[in-house]
Amino acid sequence: MGKIRRLGSDLVNQIAAGEVVERPASVVKELLENSLDAAATRVRVDIDQGGLDLVRVTDDGEGMEREDVLLALERHATSKIERFDDLSHLGTFGFRGEALPSIASVSRLTLLTRRTKDDEATEVVVDGGGEPRVKPAARAPGTAVEVRELFFNVPARRKFLRSAPTESAHVSEAILGAALACPAVTFVRSRDGKVVREYLRAGSRRERAMQALGEPRLIACEGERGPMFVEAYLSPPERGRSGAGGLHLLVNGRPVRDRALARAVAQAYGSVLEAGRYPVGVAYVELPKELVDVNVHPQKAEVRFEDGRALFDAVTRSLYDALSKVIPIPALGPATRPWLPSPQRSYAGAGTFALNEPATTPSARFDAAELAALVSRPHEVIVEGPIGSTPAPAPPPAPPPLDTSLFSQHGFYTKLRFVAQIRATFLVCEGDDAMYVVDQHAADERRNFDRLRRSFEARTVAVQKLLVPDVVELTPTEAATLAEHEEVAARLGVEVRSVGPSAFAVHGVPALLSRARPERLLRDLLAELSRAAGRPFSGAVDLVLATMACHGSVRAGDALSAEQAQALLGALDGVDFSGHCPHGRPVLLRIPFSELERRVGR
Ligand code: ADP
Ligand code: MG
Repeated sequence: MGKIRRLGSDLVNQIAAGEVVERPASVVKELLENSLDAAATRVRVDIDQGGLDLVRVTDDGEGMEREDVLLALERHATSKIERFDDLSHLGTFGFRGEALPSIASVSRLTLLTRRTKDDEATEVVVDGGGEPRVKPAARAPGTAVEVRELFFNVPARRKFLRSAPTESAHVSEAILGAALACPAVTFVRSRDGKVVREYLRAGSRRERAMQALGEPRLIACEGERGPMFVEAYLSPPERGRSGAGGLHLLVNGRPVRDRALARAVAQAYGSVLEAGRYPVGVAYVELPKELVDVNVHPQKAEVRFEDGRALFDAVTRSLYDALSKVIPIPALGPATRPWLPSPQRSYAGAGTFALNEPATTPSARFDAAELAALVSRPHEVIVEGPIGSTPAPAPPPAPPPLDTSLFSQHGFYTKLRFVAQIRATFLVCEGDDAMYVVDQHAADERRNFDRLRRSFEARTVAVQKLLVPDVVELTPTEAATLAEHEEVAARLGVEVRSVGPSAFAVHGVPALLSRARPERLLRDLLAELSRAAGRPFSGAVDLVLATMACHGSVRAGDALSAEQAQALLGALDGVDFSGHCPHGRPVLLRIPFSELERRVGR
C-alpha cells in the first residue's frame, strides 16, 4: 500500500477556501462580483457582527435555474469561461469557479435564487461543505446568498479574524471597490439590521466618485498614452494621506491592489506631494486585455502587467498633464521608458523622475537640485560626496561609505558656524575643516523624532490641549483602527473622543508638535498604525513617531533667523543618531575644504 492518497473534495475546498476567503470582506467581494456578473442593478449587503455572524448579499440579477445551482457549488464549475483563451478577453469579474464551493466549505451557506422566467425559486443549504440540501422556495427574481458563522469549522482560522468593527471596515472597503467599479448599480449596506450606507445608481464614474469618496474636491483627469487610457478623480495634494489607503485603483474595471501603480499615481504630483503620501481618489486604468494577466491571485486582487514600467510611466505622465493644468507642479524629468506615441530618447540612470526642481542650470557648480539630490540619499548623514562633476541627466555618484563617529562627538553641531540659509531650505555652515550643508527639515525632524521617542519611552509625552477641538470625519477603516489602538494614540499624546457615528474630536496633540494640523496628524497616525499591523510594536511606534515628527517640524521653505538656525544646530548635539529613524533622511552634507580647493583648481 502506497502512502499517497487523494484528498476528499470537502478538504480540497477548505484548502482552497484558505486562499480565497481570508475574512468576511473576501466573502462580500466574491458575492458582489457574482451579483455584478449576473447583471444586477441593485445589490444589498447585510452584515452582522462585522460579518462574523452573518454576511448576506441580495441581488436582482439573472438568477440560476435549479440544475445549475448544484453545479455552481461544485469546484471549478463556472458559466464564465470555457477554454484557456477566454481568460485573455474576460468580460466578467469571476472565472475561477471557486468562490461558492470555497465559502460553502467553511460556513453555513444558504443560496436562494430564481430566474425571471421560472415560477419557483430554489433554495440550497450547505453546512461546512457536506451534501447540499435542495428544495423549492419562493422569492423575487434574483439571488440571495447568506453566509453564517464563517470559519465555524476551522477554529484556527476564526481566531485570526479581528474585532467586528475592523472586519466591518474591510467589508465597507470591498463594497466601495465594487461601487467604484460599477457606477450604474445601486449598493446598499446594512450593519446589524440598520442601513448605514447607500450608493444610488450614478450616471458616470465621475458622479460615483463624488458620491462615494467623501472628498470635497476631486480633480478630474483623463489621458492616453500608447495603449493605455486613464480616467481619474484625485484630491488636491494637501488632502493627500500617508499610505495609499484612500487611493482606489481599477484596472480594466477590476479593483486591484498594486503598490507600484499607486506610486505611479502619486508621482504625477511631483514634488507637491511629499514622498510616502498619496492622494485620495480613484484611478481607472484601461489596457488591452492581452497586456494584463488577471489570473495571478486567488482573490483576483492583483494583476500582472506585461510591461509594468512603461505602464507606470504612462500613468504618471498622463495624470501629470491633467493635474498640472489645475495645480502648479514642477515639470517631471524625462521618461526612462516612454510608451508610444512620445518619440523620446531613453535616458540611462536611476532617476526616473527628477521631481525636486523644475530646471537646473548646468553651469552652476553647486546648484540646489544637485544638493537636494545628494541630501536626499537614504543615509542619516552623508559625507564627502563629490558633487557637481557630472552633467545633468546622469545621477550623482554614490557617496563613499560614511563615518558617522565624527558627528556624534560631543558638541560637534554647536561648534558649526552658521553662515546663511539658502533657498529657505538649507543651512550652510562652516566647520574647522569643511563646509556643511544641513537640510533644515531633516534636521528638525530628526530632533523631534528623538525627543518624541524619549518621552514616549518614559511615558511622559506632554499634551497640548486644543482650545477648540478639531472635529474629523473618519472613514470606517480609520475609525476601526482608532478603536483598536486608542491606548497607543493616547500614549502618543493624541487625545481623541468620539462625537458621532464617524466623527471624532481631537482634544489634544503632543506639545512638541503643536505646529501640526490635528486632522492630518490623526489621519497619518491611523494610517501608520494600520499599516504597522503585524509588525513588531516598537517598529510600528517608530513609524508613527517619525510621521508625527515630520508634521511638527520646520519645513523646506520656512525662513529661519540666524538664532533659530543656530539653535537648531545646537539641539542636534542632544540627538541620539544611533537609533534608526524610519524616515531616515540624511541631515547633513559635508564638503571638505580640500574638495572645494580641488574643484577650483587650487
Ligand atoms: P465564478 O464566479 O468564478 O464563476 P463562483 O463559484 O463564484 O465562480 O460561482 C459559480 C457560478 O455560479 C457562476 O459562474 C455563476 O454562473 C453562478 N452564480 C453565482 N452567483 C450568482 C448570482 N448571484 N447570480 C447568478 N448566478 C450566480
Ligand atoms: Mg464568482
